[in-house]
Amino acid sequence: NSFAEIDLGEVLNRNIERCRYLKPTPVQRYAIPISLSGRDLMACAQTGSGKTAAFCFPIISSIARSLSVQHTENGHNRGGWVASPLALILSPTRELSCQIHEEANKFCHQTGVRVAVVYGGAPAATQLRDLGKGVDILVATPGRLIDLIERSRISLGRIKHLALDEADRMLDMGFEPQIRKIVEQMNMPPPGTRQTMLFSATFPHAIQRLASDFLSNYIFLTV
Ligand code: AMP
Repeated sequence: NSFAEIDLGEVLNRNIERCRYLKPTPVQRYAIPISLSGRDLMACAQTGSGKTAAFCFPIISSIARSLSVQHTENGHNRGGWVASPLALILSPTRELSCQIHEEANKFCHQTGVRVAVVYGGAPAATQLRDLGKGVDILVATPGRLIDLIERSRISLGRIKHLALDEADRMLDMGFEPQIRKIVEQMNMPPPGTRQTMLFSATFPHAIQRLASDFLSNYIFLTV
């Protein structure tokens, strides 16, 4: 019942200690080991449950491990660079995206893992400048992400981890077509090579449908 017992890696564990997360919340205790094992996950968890760290920690941990083998680079196209992250976290609003970005960034300290955020309602220029520095974990709202994919500034071809946060709220806001379009953008990898985690406060039919369309052989967790 401590973070030290979960194999997240030395640097991340140090960051967790520095941020005074003394012990995992229930959703973290169950979701993090499942996620580290590579399984897909559907988790019912409310705001305040610690769900952000529950999907960020295993993503940071597994990317930090892969970076020690080989650092990632931006790709290039005729128009310039294309950001090509390894993990995508989708969230419904600018506020939530910024919170997730902030939380992920704190824990990436000295891991070499780079996080960036894109959202609508603000000029793309600043966001593009950050993407240009290289990004491993991208936090995004669906509309702005599609815009930047269509402008060939972001490619989802290398995504290994996908997390959908507050999926019920994204559907309530009418984002289902965008979410489906985004998931279609990812190159269909051989089964088992991309991990998907779906977080939602509620589990209505529409979310069950997303789970059966996006997840394979998944574990259902409710806290
Ligand atoms: P969330 O449900 O992800 O929005 O998290 C709610 C709040 O709890 C955030 O302010 C987190 O920084 C904090 N938090 C998450 N996990 C822990 C933990 N294991 N120990 C202490 N605080 C935490």
